[in-house]
Amino acid sequence: MKDLNTFGVDVNTKFFVEINSEEDLIEFLGQEEFKNNQRIFLGGGSNVLFTKDFDGIVILNKLKGIEITGEDSENVLVRSLGGELWHDFVTFVVNHGYWGIENLAFIPGSVGATPIQNIGAYGAELKDTLEQVEAFEVETGEKKIFSKEECELGYRDSVFKNNLKGKYFILAITLKLSKIPKPNLSYKILKEYLEKNKIKINGPKASPVGLQPRDISDAVTFIRQDKLPNPKIIGNAGSFFKNVFVSKEQLNNLLKIYPNMPSFEEDKVIKIPAGWLIEQCKWKGHKVGNVGVYEKQALVLVNYGGATGSEIVELANKIIASVKEKFGLELLPEVNII
Ligand SMILES: Cc1cc2nc3c(=O)[nH]c(=O)nc-3n(C[C@H](O)[C@H](O)[C@H](O)COP(=O)(O)OP(=O)(O)OC[C@H]3O[C@@H](n4cnc5c(N)ncnc54)[C@H](O)[C@@H]3O)c2cc1C
Repeated sequence: MKDLNTFGVDVNTKFFVEINSEEDLIEFLGQEEFKNNQRIFLGGGSNVLFTKDFDGIVILNKLKGIEITGEDSENVLVRSLGGELWHDFVTFVVNHGYWGIENLAFIPGSVGATPIQNIGAYGAELKDTLEQVEAFEVETGEKKIFSKEECELGYRDSVFKNNLKGKYFILAITLKLSKIPKPNLSYKILKEYLEKNKIKINGPKASPVGLQPRDISDAVTFIRQDKLPNPKIIGNAGSFFKNVFVSKEQLNNLLKIYPNMPSFEEDKVIKIPAGWLIEQCKWKGHKVGNVGVYEKQALVLVNYGGATGSEIVELANKIIASVKEKFGLELLPEVNII
């Protein structure tokens, strides 16, 4: 499995199946081998950490296809099968000039996994544009369409990580995108980057109507490449931990002791950046054996080569314990530990 998870953890699986067509999938869901084994669906393997060999079936989603399924003067519906690479889908959308997912450019992994944790970056989340999810119930093989509300999308969370965990194979998603410009420059770093690179935005490649979704996705891609380790070179799964929710009262108490503690409000919830907490506990850049905390971003745990999943979990647990001891706050992993 080493090449199928971005942490680059070297584990084996008992069975491995690649799904290349919807018919294959339907047939496979009905087979005894499927029913009698534990199983995990996998896209890009960029949000999983294998801690041991997998005693079951790893099912790799390779279902490809992107189509426009409806439109009016303002919006367009775009459907993608789950095995498409998310960034290829973003590229398709921005090249058509549609708005809504340009801030989510360059997130690794497959389209099918995006609703699982409601991917988010640079002030945008999948839930801003998601229209529906098509999925197969694994027990019955029946197809169900989930509305956005039924997906119960929250901060790096959905019904597929909770009540329906492991119960559905996500076949496709449909997004509602805007034909009308809706740049989301709420993230300072993105706005500053665009302002600094005016020449490019207004240069020969730019459209006469001004800023295009492609300009934003290019900017996001550039910023991300600079800040995050490339999993092909250093194994990682992006942010290992979620930001921490606190009440107003908790925040006020913490600010009395740590007046510089950053916090921000999103969806009426106050969050403290987990990266800051980890950095304050002096973990940033820490290396032990083959594992470590990335030197440019304390949220990212890395495999420098040859690390086991257990070694990474051990480091994560030490970080969780030290943040708990210093701040009394509980860090929760964003990565799916298997
Ligand atoms: C460098 C780097 C940067 C990242 N940056 C971000 C970021 O900015 N924002 C963000 O939100 N995430 C980020 N991530 C995490 C990750 O890329 C996303 O969560 C992505 O959506 C995972 O896709 P995947 O196909 O790799 O999922 P996988 O790791 O293959 O699977 C993740 C989970 O989804 C399940 N799953 C996968 N496909 C299906 C399916 N078809 N049906 C049912 N269940 C399925 C798996 O069983 C598993 O539980 C980053 C990761 C890396 C390595």
